[in-house]
Amino acid sequence: MDILMKPIYLDHHATTPLDPRVFTAMEPYFKERFGNASSATHPYGWQAADAVDKARDQVAKLIGAKSKEIIFTSGATESNNLALFGVSKNIKNEPQHIITTQVEHPSVLRTAEELQEQGVEVTYLPVTSQGQIELSALENSIKPHTKLISVIFANNEIGTINPAKEIGAIAKKHGIIFHADAAQAVGKVKIDVEALGIDLLSISAHKIYGPKGIGAIYIRSSNPRIKLKPQMFGASQERSIRPGTLNVPGIIGLGKACDIYELDMETEEFRLKALRDKLEFGLRQGIDNITINGHPSERLSVNLNVSFAGVQHDMLLQNLAGLAVSSGAACSSAAAKISHVLKAIGVSDELARGTIRFAIGRFTTTEEIERAVEIVTTAIKKCREASTFHMQR
Ligand SMILES: *Cc1c(COP(=O)(O)O)cnc(C)c1O
Repeated sequence: MDILMKPIYLDHHATTPLDPRVFTAMEPYFKERFGNASSATHPYGWQAADAVDKARDQVAKLIGAKSKEIIFTSGATESNNLALFGVSKNIKNEPQHIITTQVEHPSVLRTAEELQEQGVEVTYLPVTSQGQIELSALENSIKPHTKLISVIFANNEIGTINPAKEIGAIAKKHGIIFHADAAQAVGKVKIDVEALGIDLLSISAHKIYGPKGIGAIYIRSSNPRIKLKPQMFGASQERSIRPGTLNVPGIIGLGKACDIYELDMETEEFRLKALRDKLEFGLRQGIDNITINGHPSERLSVNLNVSFAGVQHDMLLQNLAGLAVSSGAACSSAAAKISHVLKAIGVSDELARGTIRFAIGRFTTTEEIERAVEIVTTAIKKCREASTFHMQR
């Protein structure tokens, strides 16, 4: 791709570029340090195992966990599957009920649906118009056989942050396991699994400037000790909870990605929020009739999900070719493709088709934000003129 044609990347909820520091940390493990971390008889194996131990410490530290509570997986999709299946399949000959929400990532929603087909009762809690679950509704939905509460920590579309601590307290009070999909929250929200009462937590490296295809699940080891039924079987890697030869370079990358947040999370948060606010301010100045979706304060600092009234989906996307962003609908006509998250917070199908998700990131510059405001402002003007023109005819 020609550098001049490269759209401005504002889609950091979808994935993030690899941080060069992460790449540097990983590189030797693709080359001379190629050992299998399970090889206990020679230095190649020891070197890999030591590096994996260090990475495990780095991941654990970022979320206030113990190293032995971190199990490496292929990403948050696998971690979410392992959390839901792992809890459910560990329970034999008992009725089961799982509570989750309508705004989960598909890797939780589809897994819950699969369990439902297998006889598990599932409640999909609605959310407020700002995207948060309601604690009273959560508590009211608890049944004697509720085994798991699975709630997205921070939403990948509208950025809304859920009250994890309050959810954790409710779960604890009723003796229910609490799983949080934190793929978007890690590194952006201060997470302490002890303080928040989280029992299971899903992490993805590629959402935090690490490599794709690697992630982790935190599994509480005490108060209470959580047991998951493995969903893969093999040798004894990851205490047999997730067997398979470890993805050593990926694990080193995930560890390094977590370590970077330990260093500069707060200053970075401040900078990102300022850029996001600049984007919002710029759009509001140039365009009327816009709605910001999500929670006004309990929202990820990188997120801006905006609905523009009176624009046609296809034309909007055509005019936003200079930006790499996501939209609220997969295509203009099929209602089935409208974002389930926007639906859940009450955005109409028509408005969802005029919705753009911006997510800024570590390497986003002020100039890129200024350029993005220009591109969007011009695009919306053009789209609205076209639709007025269309109506007058
Ligand atoms: C990206 C994402 C996932 C899936 O993570 P992968 O590592 O890509 O499998 C799950 N949940 C949320 C909230 C996400 O944003």
